[in-house]
Amino acid sequence: MKDVINMSFFENPIISKMAAHDHEQVVFCRDNNTGLKAIIAIHSTVLGPSLGGVRMWNYNNEREAIQDVLRLSEAMTYKASISGLNLGGGKSVIIGNSKKEKSKALIRKFGQFIETLGGKYIAAEDVGISTKDIEYMRMETSHLSGMPESKGGGGDPSPNTAYGVYMGMKACAKECFGNDSLESKRIVVQGAGHVGTHLVKWLVKEKATVIVSDVDEEKIKKLVKRYHVESVGVNDVYDLETDIYSPCALGATLNNNTLSRLRCSIITGAANNQLANEEIHGKMVMEKGILYAPDFVINAGGLINCYSEVIGYSKEYVFGEVENIYNSVLKIIKKSKKDNLPSYLIAKRIAQKRLERAKK
Ligand code: NAD
Repeated sequence: MKDVINMSFFENPIISKMAAHDHEQVVFCRDNNTGLKAIIAIHSTVLGPSLGGVRMWNYNNEREAIQDVLRLSEAMTYKASISGLNLGGGKSVIIGNSKKEKSKALIRKFGQFIETLGGKYIAAEDVGISTKDIEYMRMETSHLSGMPESKGGGGDPSPNTAYGVYMGMKACAKECFGNDSLESKRIVVQGAGHVGTHLVKWLVKEKATVIVSDVDEEKIKKLVKRYHVESVGVNDVYDLETDIYSPCALGATLNNNTLSRLRCSIITGAANNQLANEEIHGKMVMEKGILYAPDFVINAGGLINCYSEVIGYSKEYVFGEVENIYNSVLKIIKKSKKDNLPSYLIAKRIAQKRLERAKK
């Protein structure tokens, strides 16, 4: 019989990949009519239903998409756990270019797939997905967060994510420079998207020297015009001498290449999975003497906003919890210094402890 299945398909079986980081469930979704190709990954439901954004991205291949969704969903488990939320970790990715291939029909079809999980996965927005898309999904499922405020939801979570990053940045400044003022500090913000833009607003208000970078020239032009900030080319970000590098674009920007170039005192940003390899690069950051606020601690503002929507939205609750990211980051950085262990590891152990307690 002719070999109809390429054997390379079996090189990395999915269940083994799931077992490596203890994922509970992975769902593959496709639809001919709309061209939908998507993956939903549920890492853990130990603390509650899994909640995480839907990312639409033009992955080079399916392997990349699987890797991304597995890594992102695991990070959501730790993010919910360390933030004290009764939520598990999940995430989904739609494979495709959100500017060219996204349609209302495709998004609604994806909503139908979310519905089949019966609430085990609650979707929210992420890169390539807007509140409008959440409204389209809402036509097919109620297992969503991030509905517009006008429709009783918590709205775009990005402003709260940005505020949490700002709080965490101030906590790092306090530890590094002796006080938490960001005035006159040189801060490069990589990614002028939803979160990056709100973050720039806070930094400019505090009279920091802000430098922005984005692959999208239009976004940079708008920010420079609006806030009178400086800009830097996409490939030059890592060579700048700055006080703070704030990764707010995509993950894995802390890797062998960039860490040999970065000349900053602090790394605090919104992007998920910033360390390309947690063990290697988490240690490398520490050995370089850079303060690193673990991504899943500092970027939890959006998740807190989504959680509030699930339990009954309260602006006061969200504000209080997001502001508390300052204390969480400070506590982790201090323990990291005391124990001489990378900050990501300290944060992960705190998150894991809560999960272990819940399992028992
Ligand atoms: P976004 O899509 O609005 O913005 C991302 C920006 O990064 C875009 O403007 C894009 O053009 C830019 N970009 C992509 N590659 C780049 C590169 N190589 N160099 C410079 N810029 C580049 O996304 P967002 O909602 O602002 O989220 C930013 C990051 O924060 C993402 O990693 C996201 O997963 C993470 N995050 C977001 C939230 C939230 O509430 N939105 C919450 C937690 C984590």
